[in-house]
Amino acid sequence: MANIRSKEPKPGTLAVHGGEPRNKAHDSVTTPIVWSATYAFADTAEIERYFKGDIEREEYGRYGNPTVRAAEKKLAALEGAEDAALFSSGMAAATTALFELLKGGDHVVLTKDCYRRTRQFVTRFLSRLGIESTLVEPGDEAALRSALRPGRTKVILAESPTNPYLRVADLSLFARARDACPGANLIIDGTFATPVNQRPLDEGVDLVIHSCTKYLGGHNDLLAGVVCGRSGLVQAIRDLRGVLGAVLDPQSAFLLIRGLKTLPLRVNRQNETALAVARWLEQHPRVRQVFYPGLPSHPDHAIARRQMRGFGGVVSFRLRASARETSRVVDACKLATIAPSLGAAETLIEQPAYMSYFELTSEEREAIGIYDDLVRLSVGLEDAEDVIADLEQALSA
Ligand SMILES: *Cc1c(COP(=O)(O)O)cnc(C)c1O
Repeated sequence: MANIRSKEPKPGTLAVHGGEPRNKAHDSVTTPIVWSATYAFADTAEIERYFKGDIEREEYGRYGNPTVRAAEKKLAALEGAEDAALFSSGMAAATTALFELLKGGDHVVLTKDCYRRTRQFVTRFLSRLGIESTLVEPGDEAALRSALRPGRTKVILAESPTNPYLRVADLSLFARARDACPGANLIIDGTFATPVNQRPLDEGVDLVIHSCTKYLGGHNDLLAGVVCGRSGLVQAIRDLRGVLGAVLDPQSAFLLIRGLKTLPLRVNRQNETALAVARWLEQHPRVRQVFYPGLPSHPDHAIARRQMRGFGGVVSFRLRASARETSRVVDACKLATIAPSLGAAETLIEQPAYMSYFELTSEEREAIGIYDDLVRLSVGLEDAEDVIADLEQALSA
């Protein structure tokens, strides 16, 4: 993508070589899966050296695992972070980080268009602990400013790009908002972008969260989440992980490491396919509106061009159709699989009104901006022509 600025270091190099030194176990080229719940000490003197911090080693599985640690180092390298902590899912990463950073009486600012469970955790669960929250529209700078409560606002949390409208948060603007709140941390959920397309820590963000279940794993075969940032902050969150217990298993860490080896290849390919699909959809008579930050028609196109290397593999669009007619188009897809999630080898399609918001009425959904005719497409690694041909036959079925 020639029009996207390039940044060093090259993610491809880091994805393959970043992280741990060549591992010594049996001279294995790949990172071995260390399948152990606990780790042996030679004697009491070694225990003493370990707890004094004189030696680095494992102790017990809830506090760390060598395969997981290797994956964490690679993820930190990819994000340009001092440290990273892995969790059993993206939600475990987000909730553990928020628990570490917030206490009763604090306040959170959250963007409105965001992963549903994150919003639910903040507005329904943290509120029970006396933690208040304010939701703001992603592009509304005035709303962001007036939402801040300096002294009480301890977390500003945004996704970029957002789900499902692919809104792009102006990260430097969010960083300035954070600067106006002493003691506050700015967290960006960068799941939709991956470190290939966007590096929030370079823009002054404190913590980046990813659901590794999506692009980082990339094959629809694992659940994982990660928090990346300054070492002190990440270590505090890792310590809480040791208490709350949402640890990643070593097999998933192995699959994640394998997925990371092809991350830049996959994401660059998905960037290209999604842009081609978005352009094609935009000229289709049955399509009402396309949401893709790579299109000049997207409200955040200018920010995305400035801040991102590529625009990602998710395209959302509205049809000129009723809820049922929209379902018929989705059902008619042959190459695209109907499933929640995104970011893997397979093209997935879903109608958010039914997949994520089934229990709400049409009016309730519209109130939170989820239209019955909305479709979310996550392109896989198939040829762009095949993805487009599938949509074409589904739209004319
Ligand atoms: C999927 C997703 C999550 C949650 O991740 P899990 O791994 O499913 O727990 C959080 N944020 C975003 C943007 C996601 O897409």
